[in-house]
Amino acid sequence: MSQLVVDKITKSFDNKLVLDNISFTVEDGEFVSLLGPSGSGKSTLFHLIGGMYVPDAGEFYLDDEKITGKRGSISYTPQSPSLFPWRSVLKNVLLGAEISGKTDEAQALAMLEKAGLSGYEHAYPHQLSGGMRQRVAFVRSLLSPQSFICLDEPFSALDEFTRLEMQRWLLSIWEANRRSVLFVTHNIEEAIYLSDRIIVLSSNPASVKREFKIPFARPRDESLLLTEEFLQWKKEIYGELRVLQ
Ligand code: ADP
Ligand code: MG
Repeated sequence: MSQLVVDKITKSFDNKLVLDNISFTVEDGEFVSLLGPSGSGKSTLFHLIGGMYVPDAGEFYLDDEKITGKRGSISYTPQSPSLFPWRSVLKNVLLGAEISGKTDEAQALAMLEKAGLSGYEHAYPHQLSGGMRQRVAFVRSLLSPQSFICLDEPFSALDEFTRLEMQRWLLSIWEANRRSVLFVTHNIEEAIYLSDRIIVLSSNPASVKREFKIPFARPRDESLLLTEEFLQWKKEIYGELRVLQ
């Protein structure tokens, strides 16, 4: 079981209020997206959840345990993930698992193949494109032992085709394992396609503007993107984001 409670989080930088009293919950096995304009504070919230920053007020709870300011409780992949330059792709994705003493090389190789990284298992990060490096970091977080995963715009550097493929791949893995995911994106379609619930943030300062429960059945595939119902959701959420500007 893995439930995250974000409870009245407030954070300022240099007297500028960035996050204003943010509260929401991600239930066990739920896929929740945080959607907000760029600069609204999504990554800041992620850094706080990951324990890189400490909030001015509020707490985070993972399965009722306070994790505010603590690192390592969740699997956290930042927007610009860093890979270890001296480790191969395979060694990089096995890092989280290695720390916990449970490595499964066969599983790692299978995931790398599905992420389109066959042939690069023994390459080093400097030999990869930006999009490939992001996929490596993404595989690493999926292979980590923590049951709660936070992903900060993992597909933003990818072209449209690769993005769709990676979304399909993420869904197939997630639908098979059902780990709790908190996913940051500014892409409305991506949020609707992937999520059970979407939390819309306002900006300057960020607060929870509205929540949408996305009712589409699972497993989902791309044909959903072309349905009338999908378009309706897109319009509604787009309208909500436009009101924010
Ligand atoms: P998003 O991820 O939604 O695009 P960020 O969380 O990166 O937004 O940034 C939100 C705001 O917080 C921005 O105005 C940014 O300049 C500010 N900010 C983020 N991190 C810091 C920091 N370490 N010091 C000062 N200001 C910061
Ligand atoms: Mg960001």
